Amino acid sequence: MYQSVLVDGRLYGLLLRIDQELAGSTQAERCRWCGGRLDRADYARKPRGVPPELGPEHTVRLSLCCANEGCRRRHTPPSVRFLGRRVYVGAAILGITALRPGARGGEARALRAWLGVSGRTLARWRRWWQEVFATSGFWRNARGRLRTPVPAHALPGGLLQRFAGDLQTQLIAGLRFLAPITTAAGAM
Ligand SMILES: [Zn+2]
Repeated sequence: MYQSVLVDGRLYGLLLRIDQELAGSTQAERCRWCGGRLDRADYARKPRGVPPELGPEHTVRLSLCCANEGCRRRHTPPSVRFLGRRVYVGAAILGITALRPGARGGEARALRAWLGVSGRTLARWRRWWQEVFATSGFWRNARGRLRTPVPAHALPGGLLQRFAGDLQTQLIAGLRFLAPITTAAGAM
């Protein structure tokens, strides 16, 4: 059950640690334009789809800014928590769209109620996987890294099933796989 995975606060602790590692790697690479030092320039988000008891560190998008006076360009590291500008966190979007609409209608309904997502929004998210993600340059490249191909119509559930482990582990692996699309360059 994805709901039990998504309500478990430990998931967000693990995802936060991965985001900190990703931000650390981006920071170590220095400025892409001038080679300058990158300083932390995080910004606040109001994420939906997370348990209400999570601390304030879970509402911050880690980000970096070049310290060079004439440059100051922002570098947004990849994230396993925030899917681009979407209000809902990546775990919630991936979790609910990974459920097959017909086969597990009951679970999808329960999860939709818990997240407060309308049927229309859910349908839009499903279409995004099929029509936008499936035709993206990222997916055309990345799908070659999977040992068994995932057909577009099976996205994103078929993708998660390619990863070993329990639901939580699969969800985290899926978010890691998708992290490159969460930067400005990956344009979500
Ligand atoms: Zn710079």
